[in-house]
Formats: sequence, C-alpha cells, structure tokens
Amino acid sequence: MTEPVETNPHPEKPCRECRAGIMRLRFITFFTWLDDELLTVPGFPAWICDVCGRRDYDERALSWLTALLNPDAGKPSESRKVKPAPFFHQPPARPVQDELP
Ligand SMILES: [Zn+2]
Repeated sequence: MTEPVETNPHPEKPCRECRAGIMRLRFITFFTWLDDELLTVPGFPAWICDVCGRRDYDERALSWLTALLNPDAGKPSESRKVKPAPFFHQPPARPVQDELP
C-alpha cells in the first residue's frame, strides 16, 4: 500500500480580494505588451476568483514566460520586462471556461 499523496487535482485557495470567493486554477489567455506588440499566450495558468473575478497569474508560469522572452536575462537592461497587460472588460460573473482544445 502507498501513502496518500497530497496532490490536489483541482487546487483552490481563498480569495484575498473579497475574502468570500474561492480562487481556482484555470488556463486562460495571457496578454502582455512586448515592445509595441500585443503578445497572447493561450493556456496560461491563472488563479481566478469565482465571486469577484480577481485574477492572479501563476507566479512560476510568469517567471518562466519572462525567462523565455528575455534571452538577455541577467544583463542590466530592463527594456523587455514582461508585465501583465490590463484585462479587457469582461463580466466577472461569467463562468470561466477552460480554453483547452
Ligand atoms: Zn474574490
């Protein structure tokens, strides 16, 4: 017999914003500006509150994307820093659909 492993297939955590909702890990399309281009990354992991609609991008995925987009990482230049773009207006009450193929 094996010990029960503490891996939650549907991770969730309480929302820091409204303190009423539950933030669940979803895969959404990430938007960011890279110089003058709007870059979209589909299937990006983010924590989304089911009450207020707050979104927190997964930090590990963010740092991975930053490293991917910064071949010069480690150099003092900060010209290509990845910052999440402001979200377009979306009704937060709408159920979020997983954007999986
Ligand atoms: Zn919330």
